[in-house]
Order: sequence, then C-alpha cells, then structure tokens
Amino acid sequence: MLDFRSDTVTQPSNAMRQAMLSAPVGDDVYEDDPSVNKLQEMAAEMSGFDAALFTPSGTQANLIALMSHCERGDEYICGQQAHNYIYEGGGAAVLGSVQAQPIENLADGSLDLTKVRASIKSDDIHFVKTKLISLENTINGKVLSHDFMAQTQALAFEYNLRMHLDGARAFNAAVKLGEPISNITQYFDSASICLSKGLGAPVGSLLLGDSKFINKAKRWRKTCGGGMRQAGMLAAAGIFALEHNVERLADDHLNARYLADALENISELDVNPALVQTNMVFVKSKQVDFLALAEYLKSQGILISPGKVLRLVTHLNVDKTSIDTLVAGIKDFIKEK
Ligand SMILES: *Cc1c(COP(=O)(O)O)cnc(C)c1O
Repeated sequence: MLDFRSDTVTQPSNAMRQAMLSAPVGDDVYEDDPSVNKLQEMAAEMSGFDAALFTPSGTQANLIALMSHCERGDEYICGQQAHNYIYEGGGAAVLGSVQAQPIENLADGSLDLTKVRASIKSDDIHFVKTKLISLENTINGKVLSHDFMAQTQALAFEYNLRMHLDGARAFNAAVKLGEPISNITQYFDSASICLSKGLGAPVGSLLLGDSKFINKAKRWRKTCGGGMRQAGMLAAAGIFALEHNVERLADDHLNARYLADALENISELDVNPALVQTNMVFVKSKQVDFLALAEYLKSQGILISPGKVLRLVTHLNVDKTSIDTLVAGIKDFIKEK
C-alpha cells in the first residue's frame, strides 16, 4: 500500500528495528532506563532546554504541558486550528480543568496579536486566569515566521504569560528554514515534539522545558498513565530518528512540492504549489468527489484520507515513483468518471 494519509503511518526501517533490538533498557519510572535517559538528554541538548521527558504520544505531551503550566481555572490561548484545541479530545478541559481561549488562525497559520492581546483576561473574579500562549509549528504544513514567534513572546513577557510550542512537526519547520531546532524553541518555555511522524519512529513524543517544569510534567505523566517501564526499546527508535531522519525531512518537502506541481496540471483540481512549505499538500475540487476517489485509489493500493479539503502527506515511505503512481491513479479516476 502507498499511504498518503499522514506521516504517522511510517514503518520503522530495518536499521531502526536493529537499534531497538539491541537497546539497553531499565525501569524508566525509576529513571533507570539508559536509552530513555540518552534520548531525553539528546533532545534537550538539540533544542536548548535543560530537560526532556519521553511520552507515549504527542497528545499526552501537550496535555501534561498544559496541566503543568496551568492550574484548575486557568486558561491557555491557542489557534482555532490548533491540534491541542480540536484534535486532542479536549484533554486540557476534560482532565485538567483548564479552559482554551481559541483565536482564529490567519492564512499563514499565525494569530492576529491584537486579538490575542484583547483576549488576555484582567485580574477579575469573573474571569479565568490567562496563563499561557500555545503556538503550533508547523501548523497545517506551514512554518511560523521568526517575526511572529518573537512578537508573541514579547506579548507573553508583557503579561507574564508562559509560552508552549506544539512542535509535533517542529523539525520540519527547522529543516525548511535550514536552521537548528533551537532557533525555533528559543521563544518557548516548553515544547512537544513527535518522533512518530516524519521522523519515522513507531511510537513516542518528547516534552521539553526547564528542570522544574519537567519534574512537574513527570508527575502528571504518571497520573495520566504515561509512566512506562522498559521503554528504552522505543526510545532507541527515537534516538535513531534524531540521528538519521532529521535532515532527510527535506526530501519529504521536495516530494510534496513535486506532488503539488503534478496535481496543478489537472484542471479539475485546485492546488497551489507555491503554498506548499513542508510535507503537506492541500487539494480542493468542485468536480471531484474525494470520497469516491479514495475508494477507487484504495482498490489500486493507494490510501488517502478524504475530506472537504484533501490533505496529502509525504514521508519516508513514499518517493517520487509512489507520487507518480498516485498522480496516475487520480488522473485515471477523473478520466473514467
Ligand atoms: C499528531 C499531532 C499531535 C499529537 O500527536 P499524537 O502522537 O498523535 O498524539 C499534536 N500536535 C500536532 C500538531 C500533531 O500533528
């Protein structure tokens, strides 16, 4: 199967599996797992934070970050399209008694800082307490500008708010900018990073921050059931990913652009290759029924996830030949219709 639904579908390579097999392990709840410790140290070092925490998922990394920054009755400001607002089961509210204050995202994924400022609550018993601004980078494949991140940080300083980065795909942003990830994470008090997306590990995310924050988050991770035992086998995949799969994200970005360029030539589809920044291509169409297209492609061994807008994602298990096959399949479907 060629799978363009997400970059979460990657299969661990043989070399990654070998690294997992030979990983030294220990009980990580006792902080005894050398592989987990190594991964956490590596990630902290790369991103310029004091400390890191290995978590089973990005959702849990974001949740325990929100619960560590905010108490019951506090709020975080985020984008209306933020993953930690719409795609995480409302965990902050459900489990943390923390309220979200969403602000609509602008076309480039950023937020109108005038609106952010206006949404920060004053100290008044009617209001929740605003504690945190949470940004996402990349957001829907788009890279946030340094200007925007710096201005948001200045606003956070002005109101004594903390800053969290949902950096599930922050390495895609860093590779796109041609900069170390620490250039992005420098604006934030904490950041989450997914190992199991474009980086190609089977499981796991990292939460980064200063030692005090990470200690607090470690407690919440345990509460949320994320204290894992011999997790070093999973951490070894993460170490392998950080060592081998970061720079190659540039290939995914080139492939996404290659895909968008090919789809732009299909008159029934509405695609703008100039908008493709990282590994996602968004396709609209008035004529093509994406649900029927997905069914047809599946019969040809190609997976896509249909929606009102079709999101196609490139990753380490699809190359230019796979993309040619996808484009040919889409053309066949449109022709037969
Ligand atoms: C995937 C994703 C997450 C959550 O990661 P899971 O490991 O799937 O829980 C968080 N934020 C963003 C932006 C994501 O894309």
